[in-house]
This record gives sequence, structure tokens and C-alpha cells, in this order.
Amino acid sequence: MSLAGATVTGFSCARCGKEYGPGEASTTCPACGIDGILDVRYDYGEIAAHFGREDLERSTENSHWRYLPLLPVGSGETLPPLRTGWTPLYRAAGVLGLPNLFVKDESGNPTASLKDRATSVGMARAIDEGVAAVAAASTGNAGCSLAGFAAAAGLPCFIFVPADAPRPKIAQLLVYGATVFAVDGSYDDAFDLAARAIDAFGWYDRCCAVNPFLVEGKKTVAFEVCEQLGFRAPDTVFIPVGDGCIASGTYKGFAEFARLGFIDRMPTLVGVQAEGCDPVRRAFDGCCEMVPCEASTCADSIAVGHPRNWRKAVKGVTASGGRFMTVTDDEIVSAIRDLARATGIFGEPAGVTAFAGLTRAVREGAVGSDETVVVLMTGSGLKDPESALEAVGEPIAVGRSLDEVERAVADVPGGR
Ligand SMILES: *Cc1c(COP(=O)(O)O)cnc(C)c1O
Ligand SMILES: [Zn+2]
Repeated sequence: MSLAGATVTGFSCARCGKEYGPGEASTTCPACGIDGILDVRYDYGEIAAHFGREDLERSTENSHWRYLPLLPVGSGETLPPLRTGWTPLYRAAGVLGLPNLFVKDESGNPTASLKDRATSVGMARAIDEGVAAVAAASTGNAGCSLAGFAAAAGLPCFIFVPADAPRPKIAQLLVYGATVFAVDGSYDDAFDLAARAIDAFGWYDRCCAVNPFLVEGKKTVAFEVCEQLGFRAPDTVFIPVGDGCIASGTYKGFAEFARLGFIDRMPTLVGVQAEGCDPVRRAFDGCCEMVPCEASTCADSIAVGHPRNWRKAVKGVTASGGRFMTVTDDEIVSAIRDLARATGIFGEPAGVTAFAGLTRAVREGAVGSDETVVVLMTGSGLKDPESALEAVGEPIAVGRSLDEVERAVADVPGGR
């Protein structure tokens, strides 16, 4: 594997800790196999010598390429054109009784989820390496993201999704021109089939969990949170967890900013899973290996029964002094409505799972009102309107008479 990023020094295995030079490993640790997820290592001394806080304060780059020195990509010539990152961090003062609550709204990314951060880095590398085709297994969003970026790059794209993925996501995949396989089975079945096809046909693997470069893109969300808070770390960050790549990437992002002296402490990370699919939470609570489960949740983007990146996620959350928790599907569906009504931010089920987790944590008294809390809102609600409708009921059916409207608004605040 070539390494375009000048400051990348190699890889380390998240399982056995063994270190590899730039050319010595492909996607996973040769000693550990598929369980040996690799982490990209950098020469931080070299980075610090050329990249300071002032550079960021002066930067006019409106995307996550403002962090190019901390990403494993080259000079910039082959960066994908779709603008990714530098999404808004909205203050939601008073929501849930928290004066210092912030929501990081990732729905403004090019394909409307946080996944674009990973894809853009993966695609920059794929273009650098001159690959002929890209592929991924996906619960939906990773595939949509890859399909969008592949369309922009003019590359063939092959996506494997569970057949019951939300229709809007299927539409998005097909619109971008991807070859889409609706796999008769779960996301985990789709993952296994994709891995076999990628192996057999030599496509570039965008599966975040096993491609060490992709998770590097996800760390930029943490960089942005720090910058947007004025180079301060929040006290606590709530993160939805499926495979665990966002959680581990977020940890790495904060850790790198702390290491470079851009922030003076680390936040506590709270990983939120759905009750019907919580293998990472169970691995954390049991201090043991992860036991895969059957996924059963409406939050399709985190319905990952066999997470691949759980070890890195557990390590990061543990190192931050944080924890994992679960929420029910009812809490998730209510959170779609509650977040939208309180802030104007509309998320898909997995997108609001972190907010659902915070809602429960506040109810249980686990969050102090003086804390600065950030919630990652990871995907647009338009990707799954059916789930949203479960929380809000139907519109008011009327004929064409004003009387009907008048009767209907009698009880509505501001109606008349
Ligand atoms: C993929 C995804 C997640 C979960 O991210 P992992 O890295 O798999 O833990 C959460 N929310 C949305 C909207 C996603 O698309
Ligand atoms: Zn290993």
C-alpha cells in the first residue's frame, strides 16, 4: 500500500499492537487477520513543526481538507470535488435543560451523512492509487456516500445492502449510478458477500471497519467541534455506535488535537447503541471479547450485529473515561421528533440516537447542567421518512373550506 501522506509513518494493530511500516501491511494486520484492524500512525513532531493553530485560524478552506496535514492523503491534486465537512455546530441552549448543549449537524454533507468524511479520504486514496472500481457493504449511508463520490470521480461502484434498507437510501444509491445488490439477509450477510466479491474481483474496499484510511476521515468531526468551540474540548460528547468507526475516529481526533496542544484536555465520550443491537456496549460492560448478535432496531445505520471496529471504539471510549449505553427504538423515534421540534434539525433514526442517549442520561441525572455537551447528529431525516412519520402522526385532512381550517386551528398555539 503506498502512502501519499508525507507524515504517515505506518500502521499499528488495534488487537496485538504490532507496528508496520508503510509498505508492510494491506488492509488488516497480517498476524491477526480480519480481527486485526489497523490504525494509521503519523510523525506528530513533523506535523507540529509545520502546522499550528494559527494556520487553522487563518484557513479559508470550508471543508475538512483544512486538516490536510493530519490526513493520509497527498498534495491535494486528486482530492474529490464534493465539499465535505465544516458542518455547523448549533448551540441548542436550554434544550433538555442544558445551557451549553451543542448539536453537530452532519446532514449537510454531500450525501447527507457523516459517512462522507470517511469516503472523501478513501476516495482521495483510491484516485491516487488509480483503482478501476470501488465497492462496499453498507447499511445504506456508506454505500450512498461511496456511490456519490464514485459518480463525481467517474468510477464504477458496487454496493451490497440488506434488502430491507430504507427505500430512500436505495433510491439514492441507484440515482448515483451504482450497481446495487440488495442482499437477502442482514447487513452482516451483506458484509460477508461484499468481502468475497471484493476479493474475487479486485475492487477498492471502502468498508470503513477494515480500511484504515477511512476512519481517518471521521476524526475530522472532532477537529471541527474543537475549533467551533474556540479551541476548547467539550466536557462530554454523545456518539451513535454501529461498527464503532465514528466513536474510534472521534476519539483519535480529540487525542490528536490534545497532542498538538490545540486543546488542553480530552472530553468524555459516550457511545450510544440501540437496545436491539448492542454488542459493543456488552463488550465494554463485560470487559471481554465482543459477541455478535442478531440486529433488531429501526435505526438501520447502526444495525450492525457483528461490528468489526469494536475494539478500537471500546479502547477510545475507555481511555476518555466514558461509557456505552443503550436506548430503545421508542426513545429513538421520539428523539427524531423532539430534536427537530427543539432545534429545527431533522435526523434519521441512527442520526438522533446520540440525542436519545443524552435525553435518557439527563433524565437519569447523569449529566450536570454546567457541562458543555456535544451531540453528533450523523444523518439526514429525509433518508428515512417512514420512521419519522411513526413519531408525528398524519396531517390534517381538509376539503377546500376555510371553516374546516378554522375549526382545526382552534386548539393550535398561534392558530387564532
Ligand atoms: C454509519 C452511521 C452511524 C454509525 O457509525 P459507525 O462508525 O458504524 O459506528 C451512525 N449514524 C449514521 C447516520 C450512520 O450512517
Ligand atoms: Zn495484530
